[in-house]
Amino acid sequence: MKKIKVLHMYADMLDLYGDSGNMEILGYRCKMRGIECQIDKYSVDSEMPDFSSYDLIYIGGGADLEQQHISEDLLKCRDGIIEAYKKGVFMFLICGGYQLMGKYYRDADGNEIPGLGLFSYYTVAPSSRKKRCIGNIVIKAEIDGQKVNVVGFENHGGQTQDVKTPFGEVLYGNGNCSKSSAEGYTEKNVIATYLHGPCLAKNPEVTDHMIKYCLSRNTGEEIKLQPLDDKLEKECRKVMLSRLLNK
Ligand code: GLN
Repeated sequence: MKKIKVLHMYADMLDLYGDSGNMEILGYRCKMRGIECQIDKYSVDSEMPDFSSYDLIYIGGGADLEQQHISEDLLKCRDGIIEAYKKGVFMFLICGGYQLMGKYYRDADGNEIPGLGLFSYYTVAPSSRKKRCIGNIVIKAEIDGQKVNVVGFENHGGQTQDVKTPFGEVLYGNGNCSKSSAEGYTEKNVIATYLHGPCLAKNPEVTDHMIKYCLSRNTGEEIKLQPLDDKLEKECRKVMLSRLLNK
């Protein structure tokens, strides 16, 4: 039986707008294809895991306070996470998790939360808490060579700057900064995005891309996943696109 091993970090603190649902969807889409999906959890005070033994590391989003709470612990994991990333472990990061893999996140009160510095971007929130990027968002991203309209919900004060390779182009909403054209950050083994939703429930292509990546990396073979019935997901996306883009 094919298997993927996932490490879900700080599920008890970074879990906004159904972010933990991303793990349910990942598990579900594996199960439907007879793929075993082991999801381990790590949080503050857990034993230090072997990050490189996983296929995928997932971190969700959270409020500034939660980000501060986990920051010291996350820094302890720095070497292990960097090693895993360099070995090709897939990093899936939402909002607060996305911010903390950059150089730093400076919140609205000016507190600087150090990031792991895995990537060169940094995030600063404006001092006015009223200036948050909140609402539905649609981005156009390239997934497995196909252009996909990825839909989600964003709520962040942080403005992420110096992003070299964004995940998508904003068609509706804000993205990395207020009214910016770019959203998220991507590399071969990274998807970092502001999209809650949960993102994977709304965008099955993103889920399948990560499953395929993990299996191909494990087996060295090109993987073709058995298609699933995504009728409902497609209908939901259609409603959002027609509502937001008049499409
Ligand atoms: N606290 C961060 C911000 O406001 C991240 C929020 C989130 O994860 N949704 O920018």
